[in-house]
Amino acid sequence: MSDTSLKGQCLCGAVTVEIEPAQQVLSACHCAMCRKWTSGPLMAVHTTQPIRTEGPVKTYVSSQWAERAFCPECGSSLWYAFTAEGAHKGHCFVSAGLFEGTRDLPLSSEVYIDSKPGGYAFAGDHVRLTEAQMMAAAADGMSMGSTGSEGEQQ
Ligand SMILES: [Zn+2]
Ligand SMILES: [Zn+2]
Repeated sequence: MSDTSLKGQCLCGAVTVEIEPAQQVLSACHCAMCRKWTSGPLMAVHTTQPIRTEGPVKTYVSSQWAERAFCPECGSSLWYAFTAEGAHKGHCFVSAGLFEGTRDLPLSSEVYIDSKPGGYAFAGDHVRLTEAQMMAAAADGMSMGSTGSEGEQQ
């Protein structure tokens, strides 16, 4: 465990997660799938390193290029991982709420900002990307075959 690694656990404690964050910042995803998964934006810490876990972890294949991991005991959302071949394979967005150490991290970006409900908004001057801007960025680094964009699927 290095100085910068984060260690945390799910709501019931059955799953322990340790990551090496790419940066000490938070990102928020407002897409329809994250909102269904968490009831709000997915607040996450980005990592490009393998995630170390203990305990039962289940994964749900949520699209052709990603899966979402959760605790089968308490249902806590654990992470969103890119599984498609390409530059982003293995990149994960890990639920920030698992870690005490993320309490004071700044919010650096919001994605799928055009899917955000109107009833709430994060203050601050940070990057905000629409779905179209995200898809354009993803197409640069991932091979998504000939199926193209699948709307709000992420
Ligand atoms: Zn749990
Ligand atoms: Zn999302």
